[in-house]
Amino acid sequence: MLDLIKKVYRKLKSALSSQGGTITSVSTSRPMVALTFDDGPDPICTPHLLDVLQRHNAKATFFMVGQAAARHPDIVEKVAGGGHAIGNHSWDHPSFPRITSQERRAQIRACAKAIAPYGQQLLRPPYGDQNLWSRLDALWLGYQVIMYSVAAVDWLDHDEEWMKSRIMSRIRNGSIILLHDSLFRYGEDRYADRAPMLRAVDLLLGELSGRFSFVTVPELLREGRPLRKKWHKKCDIDFLNDLKGPYGEGWRYSEVDGWLTSRK
Ligand SMILES: [Zn+2]
Repeated sequence: MLDLIKKVYRKLKSALSSQGGTITSVSTSRPMVALTFDDGPDPICTPHLLDVLQRHNAKATFFMVGQAAARHPDIVEKVAGGGHAIGNHSWDHPSFPRITSQERRAQIRACAKAIAPYGQQLLRPPYGDQNLWSRLDALWLGYQVIMYSVAAVDWLDHDEEWMKSRIMSRIRNGSIILLHDSLFRYGEDRYADRAPMLRAVDLLLGELSGRFSFVTVPELLREGRPLRKKWHKKCDIDFLNDLKGPYGEGWRYSEVDGWLTSRK
């Protein structure tokens, strides 16, 4: 009897700890990687990107913002038609630890509606910000949270050579790579230009297509064991409040007597 209790306890503990971390890559001996593009769809960049991917026979995963997807349903359909995967990146990009649980679930549901019927149960929280409570909301709604192991840092003004070299020096079998086919919020107008990112992806695929297969996140997850990290992160309030974007004011965050508040 005691052995059985111990066995159940061990099983429970391992089930809980496997959910405790957030997926950042996949353990596989096969040369497969996943490119992911956040914040789109964008009416200009995304169709260009689809052409680049097709030219190199690469598949990718698009974590779309619901508000953008609702405005460009034709592009959502085109992305899905190209064999790419579509995941959830919230309705309008708030920092999840800084809004209420009810707001978070409404954000995820509204985005899911905008990317239906193509969206998968994959979530990437805006800014990569999350805490224990936002993880529980994702679990409650049946989403896997997908972060990344390599960031191109294409939200600042780096050129294509810099981004390509950065990715090439960090890429491994099973890597999940973070890029943006749009920037929903940014610090400076010039950062929004997606041309350097498009050139970087073209260069990268030109150099690595023979070495790696570029697959979607669901395909990569089928290849091996997901690797998880304890990922709790919160952006600075001043940083968030200084951001701007094509959809207007956005969320404002403040701290009053140690309590965080936010409003649209
Ligand atoms: Zn984002």
